[in-house]
Amino acid sequence: MEISLRNQIAIVTGASSGIGTGIAKSLASAGATVIVNHSSERSTDDAKAVVKEITDAGGKGITYQCDVSKEDQVVKMFQDVVAEFGTVDILVNNAGIQKDAKFTEMTLDQWNAVIGVNLTGQFLCAREAIKEFLRRGIDPSRSVACGKIIHISSVHEVIPWAGHANYAASKGAIRMLMQTLAQEYGADKIRVNSICPGAIQTPINTNAWSTQEAMNSLLTLIPYNRIGQPQDIGNLAVFLASDASDYITGASIFIDGGMTTFESFSTGG
Ligand code: NAD
Repeated sequence: MEISLRNQIAIVTGASSGIGTGIAKSLASAGATVIVNHSSERSTDDAKAVVKEITDAGGKGITYQCDVSKEDQVVKMFQDVVAEFGTVDILVNNAGIQKDAKFTEMTLDQWNAVIGVNLTGQFLCAREAIKEFLRRGIDPSRSVACGKIIHISSVHEVIPWAGHANYAASKGAIRMLMQTLAQEYGADKIRVNSICPGAIQTPINTNAWSTQEAMNSLLTLIPYNRIGQPQDIGNLAVFLASDASDYITGASIFIDGGMTTFESFSTGG
């Protein structure tokens, strides 16, 4: 089975770091032209380094600064990408943050910041992407689908997470956003799915893997006994963006080394 994303334009949000970088590199190596979105001036160098890696490997990509929680910036990003590349075929809604606090001490700012990026950001980008997919229609030289959206959710779409109520609420909500869009636009041949990662080694969760003690504790939650890498998620994103997965829509796919089998029940329960 050949998987190719040739002639397709992909926007990956929050691609200057971690999982987004892994996905951007994987989509580019499958032939897509990748828009490496980053949120602020501060992440410009990181985004440029990702594009350099992509182009050094023979792929195509550009950086694009846009805060996905801001409607005007998201609308402009899609307008600019369509003006430069003609359309958008693939959206990977990856940008996400954590602002952790015990629930009774969680401020409204912490709540709003996480919902703003993790949920509203995914809503805004998905809305602009679907408008563009519908404007273009199906072009069989690109894909048998009219467009593909991949939401980056989390195992915390189903596993409650004390001390992270804002984050868990945002990921639980992504499931219903994703399934509703899959239902609403299935007849238009727009596919919408979620990737739900377990523990992936990135800057968002440094405290879970940066010491041997933390890593050992983390591994007790993972039957497959290793932490995941951004490339693991990139491989799945390529599959979900490609015609090889054409009958998959409305699905949350867990990629977690077995974390959602609840390892602690293997010796009791
Ligand atoms: P990360 O901190 O390395 O990357 C997050 C990215 O989002 C960064 O590039 C950051 O600049 C970007 N970002 C933040 N706010 C933004 C905004 N307003 N606009 C645009 N970009 C913005 O973390 P990561 O682990 O790579 O996380 C990526 C996604 O994967 C998140 O949605 C996260 O919730 C999810 N996830 C991560 C793990 C994990 O174990 N690492 C597990 C499950 C889900």
